[in-house]
Amino acid sequence: MTVTTRFAPSPTGKLHVGNLRPALLNWLFTRNAGGQFILRIDDTDAERSTEENVDDIKRDLEWLGLGWDRYERQSERMERYNEAADQLRASGRLYACYETSTELNLKRKYQLQSGRPPVYDRAALKLTDAEIAAFEAEGRKPHWRFKLEQERVTWIDGIRGETNVDCASVSDPVLIREDGGFLYTMCSVCDDIDFGISDVIRGEDHVTNTATQIQIFDALGGRPTGFAHHSLLVDADGAGLSKRLGSLTLGSLREQGIEALTLLSYMARLGSSEPIEPRNSHAELIEGFDLSRFGRAPARFSPDELTILNGKVLHGMPFETVSGQLEEMGVDADVAPAFWALVSANINTMSDVPGWWAVVTGDFTPDIADEDAEFVADALARMDAAKPWDAETWGAITGALKADTGRKGKGLFMPLRKALTGRGYGPNMAELVPLLRR
Ligand code: GLU
Repeated sequence: MTVTTRFAPSPTGKLHVGNLRPALLNWLFTRNAGGQFILRIDDTDAERSTEENVDDIKRDLEWLGLGWDRYERQSERMERYNEAADQLRASGRLYACYETSTELNLKRKYQLQSGRPPVYDRAALKLTDAEIAAFEAEGRKPHWRFKLEQERVTWIDGIRGETNVDCASVSDPVLIREDGGFLYTMCSVCDDIDFGISDVIRGEDHVTNTATQIQIFDALGGRPTGFAHHSLLVDADGAGLSKRLGSLTLGSLREQGIEALTLLSYMARLGSSEPIEPRNSHAELIEGFDLSRFGRAPARFSPDELTILNGKVLHGMPFETVSGQLEEMGVDADVAPAFWALVSANINTMSDVPGWWAVVTGDFTPDIADEDAEFVADALARMDAAKPWDAETWGAITGALKADTGRKGKGLFMPLRKALTGRGYGPNMAELVPLLRR
């Protein structure tokens, strides 16, 4: 069977680092196997889905270079879902329920108070025709539940290993709401069957879904061969990321200057036994990608690590990749390659570049401490006399200053660095000096 996977976001919000995980794992798994990757928009919830979100999802994936081979939308497949629902009704697996949400809540509370699991009691199956007629006369509309076999469902999970869920402790899932709207659960199964999905890779919040969906697959005919559930992201304290995800959307990370390759390098290895290293291309990430290296432990997402990695990715980024951006930032073409070679090791994001270009053009405030003023003035006069500056200038001038003033080490170099760049850190001065325009 050829590998076919899907990434199936709901366009009810923006993509964030949490959704990137299934997107990327599916994509890498598929590209590694030479298979087909489907982008499926789960937009059966018409009220909460928006076209703007759909466009943003596509734009984010394009920015990351995670291209898809096929595009599908659930909202366009209602006919198929109706057929499937009829099929389930005919085989007695889909039944009408009339409880209101208030009634269901009361039931749950009562069950919990009496120490029982809050599993739907299937009261709807015992309704008489007269009771149903009375509900309908009242104007109640049914919602529809799938009747689970109350047995243990087991599968060999691509990440978790043997996994099982006892469906006797799971409520029969609602597949159709009382307004006739389809919920994701059955639609996803229809799509996975129709699109020939071989492997379903998604977060472990879907483990119970998988058990119930395996039963729906079996009831409708055909199921994927593989299921794999990755762990969820947590913050440094081990708490779920859900509250912070708003600031961790792919769009906002892009605006903060995080490179696509940084996010990919980070997320492709986070939670796996392999080290996180900056990668220069998608091909490098695809090569050697192995789902079984991912573990069950929650994956710790750290924005600081991401920023540090971004610096490393930029450091390894070839000049050709950034030449356009450098030009837009006003970096002169003749020195741009040399400038990039120096500065790329000293930035966290591209937004740090203009500051260093200002150092080159002299558009910055020198930092000169009072006690160093005389020494710096002497040094600058010597440097002026030594123009034009080349790779030898810094060594020659500081060598002479050392001999003449007795200064050495930090006391020698730091005041000069601060005077010439306005900063106490940065690129190798011997290489930077030839670029300076003062
Ligand atoms: N729309 C579902 C979600 O975002 C898809 C889950 C799945 O991959 O089946 O959670």
